[in-house]
Amino acid sequence: MTPSQFFYEYREVAGFGSPSRALYQTVRELVENALDATDVHGILPDITLTIEQVPRHPTYYRVTVEDNGIGIQPQHVPYAFGQVLYSSKYRLRQARGRFGLGAKMAILYGQIKTGEPVEVYTSPIGSSRIYFFKIKIDIERNRPIVLARGEYPNPSGWHGTRVSVVIEGDWPRARHRIHEYIRRTAIAAPYANITFIDPDGNITVYRRTIDKLPKQPREVKPHPQGVDIELLKQLIRKSRANTLLEFLIDAFQGVGRKTAEAFLEWAGFDKNLDPHKLDDRKLEKLARKLREYQRFRPPSADSLSPFGPEIIEAGLRTILKPEFVAAVTRRPRAYEGHSFIVEVGIAYGGQIPPSSEPILLRYANKIPLLYDEKSDVAWKVVDPKNFDWRNYLVVFPAPVAVLTHIASTKVPYKGVGKESVADVPEIEQELRNALREAARKLREYLLQKKKEEEAKKRVIT
Ligand code: ADP
Ligand code: MG
Repeated sequence: MTPSQFFYEYREVAGFGSPSRALYQTVRELVENALDATDVHGILPDITLTIEQVPRHPTYYRVTVEDNGIGIQPQHVPYAFGQVLYSSKYRLRQARGRFGLGAKMAILYGQIKTGEPVEVYTSPIGSSRIYFFKIKIDIERNRPIVLARGEYPNPSGWHGTRVSVVIEGDWPRARHRIHEYIRRTAIAAPYANITFIDPDGNITVYRRTIDKLPKQPREVKPHPQGVDIELLKQLIRKSRANTLLEFLIDAFQGVGRKTAEAFLEWAGFDKNLDPHKLDDRKLEKLARKLREYQRFRPPSADSLSPFGPEIIEAGLRTILKPEFVAAVTRRPRAYEGHSFIVEVGIAYGGQIPPSSEPILLRYANKIPLLYDEKSDVAWKVVDPKNFDWRNYLVVFPAPVAVLTHIASTKVPYKGVGKESVADVPEIEQELRNALREAARKLREYLLQKKKEEEAKKRVIT
């Protein structure tokens, strides 16, 4: 079975199980690609999402997303949109996409339900041409079929990409989720202009309120504690080193000559062994020892792109219009060799409606997560059953929203649908620390407010 056949058979696992879910997922995949093409590359995003109902086909919708991103080189376009598992993001740094699946799932789903190809306009930065493609996927062979292509002059110097698919959808049922998804995307991206034109004719505009972008992620080498046998094999295959010592220095982050020598001695390996000649038993031992060794430097966080407190506070303030906000970005930590950073923002009062539990806004690698809230580690941490909000002067029902963000080169999602995060102890602990830190700021604010109110009362009486 080719990857495209596999995902054709099992499209539910990628979030395309029903027309309403498929519409939501299509929006999500295309918007995430647009953001990856902009903020990750230092461009302030201008993104327009349009969903139109197709005339005479009440359940067909055209979904179009346009961005001002880096664009795509024309020779790559057929693969980017016509070959499942083709991705330019296989590098080890934080991005929203990863596996080269998202856009293709939307295209594949559209193709099998409506028979329509994807249409792409793109112009890479600095290009004097705009390229146009109509593409279908040859599902049996997992190859692109280019149905049409064109080329136009680009006098205005536009750069970016416009992708358009026609899928079967259920707007009435997906309406609420999609609006909520865009709103949450806007909360976390106050540095973006986002326009959403929906099938009911509503135009929602989220204007940029801050010119600051999240820190750009840099590519890093894998951390030795994050390897398994398969990754080790791949790294050896790619490496030109002919001793184990050179291989370790060359293939992993934060491993210098001294560290490599100390590790090899501890693990009982001859440092002059040729890594290409290790048999399966030795490979297994090497991978295991790499994971067990406690004295490697902690994983680098250069590959991560947290929002930072300023962006979180700006986003919460703009969209939720609270009376108080505070945000915390924790220092990098690691689990199993994967670095991660946890962030928490709290918004209180103002236009936030009181409710019996905190309103939770979850993000992982800058993507909002909407489904399966109660099974997410973030819920476990903010749940009033587990977190003593009264310590921080919050008594439910209360007007509180909590934003949580987990940035990592490997987010431990519970499923391929990427909707909830597993309770890895290190991550849970960091979330709790971040929540405490932010809640302390809220407590100070509420104390101050109480004092002022009491002072006022005294003046009046
Ligand atoms: P992934 O996002 O996981 O890499 P996708 O199937 O969503 O997989 O996209 C495949 C590739 O197409 C991306 O890796 C990227 O190179 C390219 N691509 C898709 N959308 C855009 C876009 N809006 N701008 C630039 N490149 C894009
Ligand atoms: Mg993608």
